[in-house]
Amino acid sequence: MNISLKLDRFEFKGVSTEKPLIMAGPCSAETEDQVMDTARQLRSYGIHIYRAGLWKPRTRPDTFEGVGKEGLPWLRRVKEELGMYTATEVANVKHVYDALKAGIDIIWLGARTTANPFAVQEIADSLRGVDLPVLVKNPVNPDVELWIGAFERLNRAGITKLAAIHRGFSIYSKTLYRNNPQWEIPIELKRLIPELPILTDPSHICGSRELLFEVSQKAMDLDFDGLIIETHCNPDQALSDAQQQITPENLNKLIKRMVLRSASIQNNVLLSTLEDLRHEIDKYDDKLMDIFEHRMAVARKIGEYKKQNNITILQTSRWDEILRNKIEQAAKKGLGEEFIIKVFRAIHEESINHQTRVMNEE
Ligand code: PEP
Ligand code: MN
Repeated sequence: MNISLKLDRFEFKGVSTEKPLIMAGPCSAETEDQVMDTARQLRSYGIHIYRAGLWKPRTRPDTFEGVGKEGLPWLRRVKEELGMYTATEVANVKHVYDALKAGIDIIWLGARTTANPFAVQEIADSLRGVDLPVLVKNPVNPDVELWIGAFERLNRAGITKLAAIHRGFSIYSKTLYRNNPQWEIPIELKRLIPELPILTDPSHICGSRELLFEVSQKAMDLDFDGLIIETHCNPDQALSDAQQQITPENLNKLIKRMVLRSASIQNNVLLSTLEDLRHEIDKYDDKLMDIFEHRMAVARKIGEYKKQNNITILQTSRWDEILRNKIEQAAKKGLGEEFIIKVFRAIHEESINHQTRVMNEE
């Protein structure tokens, strides 16, 4: 892939350039008091960059969709009274126009916007001639090229202070995470554009407070550049994403607890090699799942056949033969005998369950 971006360093006056760069603030600006209270507390813990969503892309209607323009003067107060940099999400040209007019310092494109090249292009065109840091969240789908496309569109419109936000990827099946981190995607982005800073958004990856530390630490261990973490003065009462928001005090504890390891080259290579290997393991595990699925389908077919012909499910001789055979194969493949016996007992048991169900069907 041929990528050519012209990037400038992403720095803020008075903010340490040492990693990690921390951005914090509520999912949504809700009231002037909530915005100011949260910001004051964050400032007291040494946080300089304040995030707050004004226009909220919500999955379902009839949920809180943000206060919109009304919140812009509140963010201006945060900037003027507390000397913090302010950041908000923009999803269309109107948002860009209003945010710039109100003196917002940093804007970001949300995951749903990055997935839409028309929207990205319109926003990029509206930013021509403006010198403003723009952060781009990964698209909702795990497509590194689509993510890179957004950087290219913005860069061609003259935006050179760019950074990525890794916020995980939508998946249909339920997992531990709200948005699957799929670390291999931001790792690939880093490999392709090493000079592009990457912040991780543990809040939207995790969807719940309990996992925030682990994901934040992992981002640091992968030598990412910073974190954007949703923080609210009263998280349980938040109008959006309540379960994943934390108090400024707990954010401070989380930051203090993180271990920052040295990012020597060897270390990086080691981590991404480990990541590649784990990815390989995941692929084999997925294959195993497919094999189980197909094996059980065959077991059910055998069940049908036995039922039609009035044969019992369990035929001990057949089972003995399978087991003996597998133990012999295991020795040749360097697999433990005990392990193989356990695995095949479990598979056999599951086959019997499937066949019993078939036998019992009307
Ligand atoms: C957000 O940061 O509040 C947000 C809406 O995030 P995302 O675009 O990652 O869903
Ligand atoms: Mn949110």
